[in-house]
Amino acid sequence: MDRPEHILSELDRRGAFGVGYKYPAPLDDLDPSFKSLLLSLQKALIEALRQENENVSGGVIHPPFHVDYVGADEPNALAFEYGGFAFILITVPIMEMMWRTSERLSHAPSVAGLLDVAPIEPALIERLIPALFSVQFAFLVCHEYTHHIHCHVVKSSGEDLRIWREIRESAKGDELDAQAQEVGADTYAVYIALTNLFKGSGRHNAISVFELRNKALISADESLLAIFVVAVGAFFYAFEPMIIDAASIYESTHPPEAVRMNYVMHSVTSWCNQNAPAIETWMNPRRYQVFIGTVGEALWGAAGTTAAQVAFLRSAPGAEYLARLEELRLKQFRGLENLIAKAKGRSV
Ligand SMILES: [Zn+2]
Repeated sequence: MDRPEHILSELDRRGAFGVGYKYPAPLDDLDPSFKSLLLSLQKALIEALRQENENVSGGVIHPPFHVDYVGADEPNALAFEYGGFAFILITVPIMEMMWRTSERLSHAPSVAGLLDVAPIEPALIERLIPALFSVQFAFLVCHEYTHHIHCHVVKSSGEDLRIWREIRESAKGDELDAQAQEVGADTYAVYIALTNLFKGSGRHNAISVFELRNKALISADESLLAIFVVAVGAFFYAFEPMIIDAASIYESTHPPEAVRMNYVMHSVTSWCNQNAPAIETWMNPRRYQVFIGTVGEALWGAAGTTAAQVAFLRSAPGAEYLARLEELRLKQFRGLENLIAKAKGRSV
């Protein structure tokens, strides 16, 4: 089998990724410490995804994973299968965007308050930025990984390369199916990313932030959960909040941020219930509202609110949209279970 890097170079030569894309990514143009962080995260994730077994992927058979960076003019992430590999390509601009959001949040006294690490000092900022960044990055890669293992990525055949793009222009037709796949990917990504943060390689980075405080008001597990909610909230709120109405809501390929975070939080509660029951009720809806409001305001000021989205979702057309989305998500989930059962039936 060809090396994954060679396959990617070949696809780039053919212009397969689109205008402005460039492989290998021009990592030498980046700050050397940022470049070395990107390379170490890539190595850790390739390792983690190669070691993952059928328990994580739910039994879905898939080719070996390869995570890599690509130069581009836009923040985006690509998932596709080609040449015997399941590829996850992350553009340099989305990495830079996640770093900038982490920087902005790490300097905000209101965020330090949420994380119980106030007052802000240089040593803290130095640890907090990479910690918030690593959680965002892990969540993004786990989300793309789920698109693969939940069979959202259509297999490519021959010259026909089918790429799943994370950030797309609004489509013209009804995209509710794609939206249900997105919340499915978010929900599952929460499980893998939280497991990594609490029990895997992500723990060390995050805990190092909390070692600096003199007196902790919240426990180590609560601290980890706090950093997770801030980082994933930041990932969604890095983009300007979507403006939605009864017609346009169905035409977007991704649900609005308020809906995605709602699914994320349901999944967080369910993960805690199974893995850390002592903190299941700590991140209650009221605390979550304070968290997400603070993150939005730290990134966008007064404009960083999804109040308009929430108001629409509470209207009759909003409630109908939510019901249809949930119905489709459950239908896709049952379809996946059938697929896995069939795959297991064959392998026995
Ligand atoms: Zn997605």
